[in-house]
Amino acid sequence: MKFVSTRDNSIVRSFEEAICSGYAPNGGLFVPQKLPKIDSNTLNVWSTLAYPKLASSVLRLFIDPHEIPDKDLERICVQSFSEFENPDHAVPLVRVGDFHVAELFEGPTFCFKDLGMQVVVNLISYFCAKRKTTMTLVVSTTGDTGPAAVRAVSQSTNLSILVHFPQGQISDFQRRQMTTVNSPRVRAVAFEGSGDDMDLPIKRMLAGSDSMTGINSYNIGRPLVQMVHFIWSYLRVVDREKIGTRISFVMPTGAMGNIAGGYMAKKMGLPIDKLVAATNINDISHLVIQTGKFHRAPEMHKTLSEAINIQVPYNFERLLYYLTDENDSLVSDWMTTMDEKARLTLNSEWLELLQRDFDSVRVTDEQLCETLRHVLEKYGYLSDPNTAVAFHAALALEQGNSEIIVMATASPCKFEEAVTYASSTEQWQKYVDKGFPDRAKAILELEEVEPTIYRAQDSLEASQADWEKLARSLVDQLRSR
Ligand SMILES: *Cc1c(COP(=O)(O)O)cnc(C)c1O
Repeated sequence: MKFVSTRDNSIVRSFEEAICSGYAPNGGLFVPQKLPKIDSNTLNVWSTLAYPKLASSVLRLFIDPHEIPDKDLERICVQSFSEFENPDHAVPLVRVGDFHVAELFEGPTFCFKDLGMQVVVNLISYFCAKRKTTMTLVVSTTGDTGPAAVRAVSQSTNLSILVHFPQGQISDFQRRQMTTVNSPRVRAVAFEGSGDDMDLPIKRMLAGSDSMTGINSYNIGRPLVQMVHFIWSYLRVVDREKIGTRISFVMPTGAMGNIAGGYMAKKMGLPIDKLVAATNINDISHLVIQTGKFHRAPEMHKTLSEAINIQVPYNFERLLYYLTDENDSLVSDWMTTMDEKARLTLNSEWLELLQRDFDSVRVTDEQLCETLRHVLEKYGYLSDPNTAVAFHAALALEQGNSEIIVMATASPCKFEEAVTYASSTEQWQKYVDKGFPDRAKAILELEEVEPTIYRAQDSLEASQADWEKLARSLVDQLRSR
């Protein structure tokens, strides 16, 4: 399988080239040249596989054996889930009231990002070993991507990582996950800005570089691997003889990398009814699904669900690509408009098509808190603040006959402040005594290494130019070790 750009189908790359370059050359995103089809026979066979084997079977459809032979691909997948609570059953499904809940947070950093990140980092490391080179990963995080990436990289021998987070806008636990890894191959930076302010400098750094890549979900590896947990969850909830029944998924949505994986799985034939984006008041994804307006908000609002704070969800470009039946020139026109004007408006025909596959709910902090308490009191289930946003959306939907899987994307252990605020100090203490994972306690005891700080300049443009320079010199330092 080859990979092409969403903005120009004639740009064709191998899987190795696509995953090791992050963005496509003209600013577009890589997508598979042709989505393979999966039918109910395939799903039936897949329904008995352990998680790592399902992952290698799904990836096999996208990666040619001459790029990675079966044996190596299987080994990479086994290794990638080896640190999960239960590797063969990496994503447990539990029942909470009327909903199925897919617990995507049983990996080493307690968040769904581990599911995609471990595999992607191991794949990049595999290609580096083959080429006898090293690479530096440059990452920006609103909370969970950074820890998952740092963790995955710290276990490789040929990768280093420069990770950026907005100062004061991630939880203490998340910061500690990045600042307590004392390795010459890991560098953490706090920038005086908000969520996606580092995206542009990083995009400029990665353009044309073959010693750096990005592994945020614009990297095609992420949505590819993230398809696996949709397929897995579907097969846990639907009995074998009922394969074909349509199910809806509700997920807290930020950059739309998770929902893009779900949409690709749906386009391949996984019987998904609706994909529901639950957003906070940084609601561009909600607005575009409800009104067709893909308009960058002038500012980022602080919320209790910081992992889904976003101004421009970059994976919407992949949704548009599949919505238009892979019309690269239309996507290119649209995204050029978006890049230039920060506003794109879909007409009513496109909006109608979008609404066939997607729905959305916007959730305020107040609703988040109410729902977190409600789910805790009624079902004894403590969710993290981002998952509470999805619960609120699931409760608000009029779903008809289709069953719902709520995606629980993080463990509450990462969000002491928000969980305490939404419930109470006593509830948090109860959780620390009874539910808090032992593996997580260790992180609270390690010593922190001070992150580097990037200071804000007079304007965002000036900051971004300055930060790009600083980041380039830090990458040089990491590479000279
Ligand atoms: C990243 C993240 C999300 C959002 O996923 P996207 O792919 O960015 O839409 C939701 N919840 C948590 C806890 C996350 O870390």
